Amino acid sequence: MEQGFDVEEIRRDFPILQTKTRNGKPLVYLDSAATSQKPVQVIGKIEEYYRNYNANIHRGLYEISVRSTDEYTGSKEKVARLINGGSYRNIIYCRNTTEAINLVALSWADQNISQDDIVLTTQMEHHSNIVPWQMLAKKKKARVEYAGLSKPNLSIDMEDYKEKLEHGPKLVAFSHVSNVLGTINDAKEMARLAHKHGAVVLVDGAQAVPHMKVDMKDIGADFYAFSSHKMLGPAGIGVLYGKEPLLEGTDPVIGGGDMIRSVRFDSCTWNELPWKFEAGTPNIEGGIGLGAAVDYIEKVGIERIRRHEIAMTKYALSGFEEMEGVEIYGERLEKVNESNKAGVISFNIKGVHPHDVASIFDSEGVAIRAGHHCAMPLVTQVIGEPAVARMSFYLYNTESDVDKAAEAVAKVKRMLKRG
Ligand code: PMP
Repeated sequence: MEQGFDVEEIRRDFPILQTKTRNGKPLVYLDSAATSQKPVQVIGKIEEYYRNYNANIHRGLYEISVRSTDEYTGSKEKVARLINGGSYRNIIYCRNTTEAINLVALSWADQNISQDDIVLTTQMEHHSNIVPWQMLAKKKKARVEYAGLSKPNLSIDMEDYKEKLEHGPKLVAFSHVSNVLGTINDAKEMARLAHKHGAVVLVDGAQAVPHMKVDMKDIGADFYAFSSHKMLGPAGIGVLYGKEPLLEGTDPVIGGGDMIRSVRFDSCTWNELPWKFEAGTPNIEGGIGLGAAVDYIEKVGIERIRRHEIAMTKYALSGFEEMEGVEIYGERLEKVNESNKAGVISFNIKGVHPHDVASIFDSEGVAIRAGHHCAMPLVTQVIGEPAVARMSFYLYNTESDVDKAAEAVAKVKRMLKRG
């Protein structure tokens, strides 16, 4: 076990992990890549806000409004510190990763990309890092290109990436960690190469920030997006980190209260960063809850979390790779190391639809996800399957959870496997 990391103690902070499913099985939660569970510290913080200082931010000169404003802005300071991303001025809150990426598409990209320009992304992206660029390309008569993946481990083919950079993309947008394969991309190197070609870089960090040390100064991305709900925080709040000169040079896209400095009948001026991108009353409880989630992650230690998850991943791969008829997508155990694989394992059982796999897992209390995981081009066009089953780990998972998943595979085979 990871030194100073007591998984049983951690599990006690997550009430849902003490519950049982409808047929009396203890819940085994292996779907944290979809959303994470929440510790009492986060749930309690949200309740504390509503009980003690619920008030709109940036409005009142009275005590509880000052408190809610301080807590909300303070949560941005915590987020900035977690990712070494400057200060609250670099942290724009929106609903989720999807909205953060769309915000860049609708603002910076809309204002800087024109006909025949290229947005370069990759073949391993979530729809939220594909569809906004397709929409933008359609509007601007621009083009989306995709860096390919190398086989068999399905990591980004760096030769192809470099070749596509030669086409001179204005924007390069890629995921830090794949939500299907668990591949960790070398974001720093990819950003360096893209910058060398004069591109602006956006990184989708939805699967990275919750699970590993992510450092904005080190990676050097211009924009970086992630979601609170995948990192122990509440849903409905996400983060767009941006470098100040880019944010300063970009006009907001949603107008209204709080995003202005002054308004006259014929004109208005924008508020300072980050508020010019946050029109209207924001998700105050979400921001405050996210701050508590960051506190929790820092208390446990992000590096410890990462080491626990890599141990869990190796343990799972060592069992699943030996199972007959089970195909695993992504890096193999023998090549897995600290820097190339996160706690996400996608697999299929030969001859069985992954939806049936997930249903049988569910009958054993094991929650996994099956489908295209919002990465349809990767799953259907690169992997070449209609769907895959996926288990994903977080700080509260144990080897016993993996054992239950392995037992569920045996049950699938007993019940459904043909041939
Ligand atoms: N990108 C990646 C890599 C993801 O895993 C997800 C969530 N599955 C998203 C983007 C979208 O996140 P959200 O649904 O919170 O907007």
